[in-house]
Amino acid sequence: MTQSKELITGKRVVIKIGSSLLVDQEHGTVHRKWLQALAQDVAVLSGRGQEVIIVSSGAIAVGRRHLKLPAGVLKLDESQAAAATGMVRLAHAYQEVMAEHDLTVAQVLLTLDDSEDRRRYINARNTLGALIRLGAVPLINENDTVATDEIRFGDNDRLAARVAAMISADILVLLSDIDGLYTADPRQNPDADVISEVTEITPEIEAMAGEALTEDSRGGMITKLAAAKACLANGCRMVITDGTEMHPLKRLEDGAKATWFLPSATPKGARKRWIAGVLSPQGALLLDEGAVRALASGKSLLPAGVVGVEGEFQRGDAVVLKAADGRELGRGLVAYSAKDARMIMGYKTSEIETLLGYRGRDEMIHRDDLVVS
Ligand code: GLU
Repeated sequence: MTQSKELITGKRVVIKIGSSLLVDQEHGTVHRKWLQALAQDVAVLSGRGQEVIIVSSGAIAVGRRHLKLPAGVLKLDESQAAAATGMVRLAHAYQEVMAEHDLTVAQVLLTLDDSEDRRRYINARNTLGALIRLGAVPLINENDTVATDEIRFGDNDRLAARVAAMISADILVLLSDIDGLYTADPRQNPDADVISEVTEITPEIEAMAGEALTEDSRGGMITKLAAAKACLANGCRMVITDGTEMHPLKRLEDGAKATWFLPSATPKGARKRWIAGVLSPQGALLLDEGAVRALASGKSLLPAGVVGVEGEFQRGDAVVLKAADGRELGRGLVAYSAKDARMIMGYKTSEIETLLGYRGRDEMIHRDDLVVS
């Protein structure tokens, strides 16, 4: 199945904005007019029912100039201080331009650990899910103030790809200062042209990525291809386009030059494959007949349908689902630990809070987290 090269065909859209688009190089101020135009584009997407998540760089670029730090490579504590100073200004600017369209911005600062540690990953995923459901536009950046060199993404291209995977986004738009992936370095080769479509990151494609690092933006084409690889594996489309002009999203819709990375799977399909094949199950749930039927008709698994819990697992681990006769029915990511699952099995969802003392998810395994074999 060939995926569409259109922005309109994605429900959940992550937009990554590079520092060079947003921040005035000399004064370190936010390009207000550009951001206002972007907010207009975002409002169009949101008005037609698309969910927008923004990953923005620029905290360090804004903060370092505000603190009058010297040009060149900053020491770690200086860049952390710059990020702390710049992020509040950046978020404020976003909040103001989005409010003109009645859009609510919600700041989320993530570290690498938030996406690698299973439980923190689930927390971050749930929080982002809740924000999106409540109609807010998450504004995400790396938490540069606490991230040290060994434990950081370092660039927002890869962070954005991780976020896109985390929330099963349909499209990741990388707004950059280059209009796509060129066949060769356009500064050296006047015949070089933008490749409009990539379906696989082959060694030939990788060879096309030259280095393009500046003081403010850490990601060059190499990090963009790493992001593309992650997106292709997760069934998320990705597009690189030049965002320097006003209204970059509208321009993309009007057919601006861009490179589209088109996966063969959808985000849902890729996630289900991951649940079914990649994760090793830590335990099992035994189901009664009603639950077996519910599963077969595509419903979620409720605590009431569970008659037994095997093994020791944590919230978010993969477990096998079995019928009373031991037959394997499928796999899923469980919303409760084995200990809690044993306490709520057989009970109604409305009783979970009384049994556990907290209100967790309504389902033992939500149908999005379930693969029936
Ligand atoms: N997180 C960094 C910042 O906000 C930017 C990283 C990047 O440019 O990719 O300043």
